[in-house]
Amino acid sequence: MSAIVEGRTGPFEMVIGLEVHAQVISKAKLFSGASTAFGAEPNTQVSFIDAGMPGMLPVINGLCVEQAVKTGLALNAQINLVSVFDRKNYFYPDLPLGYQISQFTKPIVGKGIVTIDLPDGSTKDIGITRLHLEMDAGKSIHDIRPDATHVDLNRAGVALMEIVSEPDIRTPEEAGAYVKKLRSLLRYIDTCDGNMDEGSMRCDVNVSVRRPGEGFGTRCEIKNVNSVRFVMRAIEYEAARQVGIIEAGGTIDQETRLFDSQKGETRPMRSKEEAHDYRYFPDPDLLPLRLDPAWVARIKAALPELPDARKERFVRDFGLSPYDASVLVAEKENAAFFETVAKGRDGKMAANWVMTELFGALNKKGLDVTRSPVKAEALGGLIDRIKDNTISGRIAKEVFEIMVETGRDADAIIEEKGLRQVTDTGAIEAEVDKVIAANADKVAQIRAGKEALKGWFVGQVMKATQGKANPAAVNQILDKKLKG
Ligand code: ADP
Ligand code: MG
Repeated sequence: MSAIVEGRTGPFEMVIGLEVHAQVISKAKLFSGASTAFGAEPNTQVSFIDAGMPGMLPVINGLCVEQAVKTGLALNAQINLVSVFDRKNYFYPDLPLGYQISQFTKPIVGKGIVTIDLPDGSTKDIGITRLHLEMDAGKSIHDIRPDATHVDLNRAGVALMEIVSEPDIRTPEEAGAYVKKLRSLLRYIDTCDGNMDEGSMRCDVNVSVRRPGEGFGTRCEIKNVNSVRFVMRAIEYEAARQVGIIEAGGTIDQETRLFDSQKGETRPMRSKEEAHDYRYFPDPDLLPLRLDPAWVARIKAALPELPDARKERFVRDFGLSPYDASVLVAEKENAAFFETVAKGRDGKMAANWVMTELFGALNKKGLDVTRSPVKAEALGGLIDRIKDNTISGRIAKEVFEIMVETGRDADAIIEEKGLRQVTDTGAIEAEVDKVIAANADKVAQIRAGKEALKGWFVGQVMKATQGKANPAAVNQILDKKLKG
C-alpha cells in the first residue's frame, strides 16, 4: 500500500489521525463501585450514579487514575499533575445523566510518542496529542422488538481512556501498525485487554487527502471501527471517495461517517452543521485531580520492560532482524515463550522455529501460545537435537508434527520411532555402494562430467535410509566413491 492515491488528475496524499477508546482494566467503574465484568445480564451492574439518579455523587476510582498514568508513561507522554473533569452535555436514552463526564481542556496525559513497526523493518514515530479519562455510555438495543428500544446500562460509567493521535499517519498500513502497537503496549502494562471483538478497543478514524506539498485538507471522521482490518479498509475507501469528489470539482464536507464492513464503504452519519454543541464545563461534583509527583515516579519505576526495549534487546542478543523481533515482542506471552526457547541456543534458529513452525501449527489449531501443546522447553529440546546432529532439520519437522499432536518430548519420539540420524559411515557406505552398483550408467555420466547428477545419488541414499543418513557424510562418501 503506497502513501499516494493516483487520481485522474495526479497524485494525492492521505492524512490520517486516530482517536482510540480503550476500556480501562478495573473491576469497578470510573465513578461507582458497580462491576465491569463483560457479558452479564443487562442492567445487573448499575449503581444509582450510573443510572443518573438525582443527588448521587461521583467518587473517582483511584485504580483507573493509576491505569491512565501508567498508560501515559508507556506512551512516553507528559503526565499532567493537575487535570479537570468536565461535563459533556448531550441527550441520549442510554445516557441517563444527560451528560458524559470526560476531560476537555485539561486532560490527565498530554503529548507523547508511539513508535510503529513497519513490515520493511523500518519504524516511524507517531505523535500522541493527549489521553483523557471518560466514562462510557450505556447501550441502546434496537433489534429485540420492532416497536421499542431497549437500554442496557451495564457499560454506563465504565472507565475509558481516549487516546488521540496527531495527524501523522500517511497510509492504511501505518494506521494498522499504529493500532496494533497501541494494543500491544496496553496489554504489556495491563491497562486494557485490547479485545476489539468485545469492544474494549474502538477507533474513530479521521481521514483527509491533499495534493503533495499542500496544507491539510478537510477531514471526515469514521466512527467506531472495531478491527485493524476494518480501519485499513475504511481509510482506503474514504481516501478514494474524497479524491473522486475533489477531482470532480467538489469540496469535502467535514462530517462524521460510518463504515459498513459488509459493503466495505463509508456513509454519512451527521455533518458538522448538525454537530453537537456539548457545552463543556467543569463538573462541580468533582475536584480537580491532583497527582503526587512521587506517586507518578513510583509508577514509572515499576513499569515492565516495554515492547520497544524488548525488541532492541532481541535484535542485540539474539541477532534477529528488527521486523522479526517486532513480531515476536508484540504479545508479551509470545516474547516470553521465544526467550525460553532461545536462551543458550541459536537465536535465529529459535526465532524460525517459533515464528514459522510453532505459530503455523497453533494457527491451524486456533490456539495461542499459552495453550500450545508444545512447551517452550520441549521446542528448545528439539532444536538441541538438530544442533548435536541427532536428527536432520527435515526429520525434525516430522518430530515436531508428532510433538504438536501428542505433547510429548522430542527425545522420546526420536527413540521410539528410531529417527536417529545415521552417522555411522560404514552403514552409509554400504548404501552408497548399493546405489552405485545399481546405476553404472549414471556413474559413467558423472565421471564424463555431468556433475549435476550427484544430487540424484544423494537423494537415492537418503531415500534408502528414510532420510536418516547424515547429509554431510553422504556427500563426502559419494564424492570419494564417484571419483572412482
Ligand atoms: P475533534 O475534537 O473535533 O475530534 P481534533 O482536532 O481533536 O478534533 O482532532 C481529532 C483527530 O483528527 C485527531 O486524531 C487528529 O490527528 C485528526 N485530524 C485533525 N486534522 C486532520 C486532518 N486534516 N486530516 C486528518 N486527520 C486530522
Ligand atoms: Mg473527535
